[in-house]
Amino acid sequence: MTELALTNKLTLQITSLFWKSMDWLYPPRCCNCDRRGFAFCEECFSAIERLSIICCKKCGYPIHNRNKLCDECNLEPPLFTQMQSWAVFSGPVRTAIHALKYKRNLALGSILAKPLIDMVEKSGWQIDLVVPVPLSKSRMQSRGYNQAALISRYLAASLNIRHSSRDLRRIKNTITQTKMNVNKRFTNLLDAFYANPATLKKKNVLIIDDVVTTGATMRNCTNALLTAGAENIYCLSVARAILRQDQKHQGFTSNSAQQF
Ligand SMILES: [Zn+2]
Ligand SMILES: [Zn+2]
Repeated sequence: MTELALTNKLTLQITSLFWKSMDWLYPPRCCNCDRRGFAFCEECFSAIERLSIICCKKCGYPIHNRNKLCDECNLEPPLFTQMQSWAVFSGPVRTAIHALKYKRNLALGSILAKPLIDMVEKSGWQIDLVVPVPLSKSRMQSRGYNQAALISRYLAASLNIRHSSRDLRRIKNTITQTKMNVNKRFTNLLDAFYANPATLKKKNVLIIDDVVTTGATMRNCTNALLTAGAENIYCLSVARAILRQDQKHQGFTSNSAQQF
């Protein structure tokens, strides 16, 4: 067994043992309905609204035309090779991400990683390295952990791919983006990330985040990785916010896929 495979196997075993003991010591409650015995109960998990199977081939945003790009990608194609998300950022998945991020419900990291593992396996992506979207030093100090890294580390170990939380770093303390539009977010994040050329040259990299809102963070991370000499960049998130004005109506989730 290679050193990487051994490290990944150990990571999975330690994670599983740790959460089994934690569940025994402190029986979990569902992050969404408070039901006893589960960090995320089956009922709430199955109520998550998945993104449509008909999405932009480049950025993963739900569209109506199979095999086409969305208007934004047609206008200005992003530099990443492909971006995908698993669910619509609403309902139980939104509550779960909030609990993972702000309520220290760390068990949700590996739970939310599982559907992403399936997606990577089906994607055909050749990946050398998995990285989480990094937090700034000050955010890391106040929160104590990076929620995206809890997802990405478990995903990389399960797929037996190398993982790094150090090769892509956030070097600028950006102001909160919640109320900014897409252009402001992109400018706010310009030069916010640095990627290490020594380890990234000619590598195919998968970036993991919990939520993609406008895509500005992923695009800026992609720029930093390409500047460092990385070859192909793939972006994957648990959830995607459905924000574009002309597409705000119903009909973009797999629950309503029969409409297409
Ligand atoms: Zn529940
Ligand atoms: Zn697109």
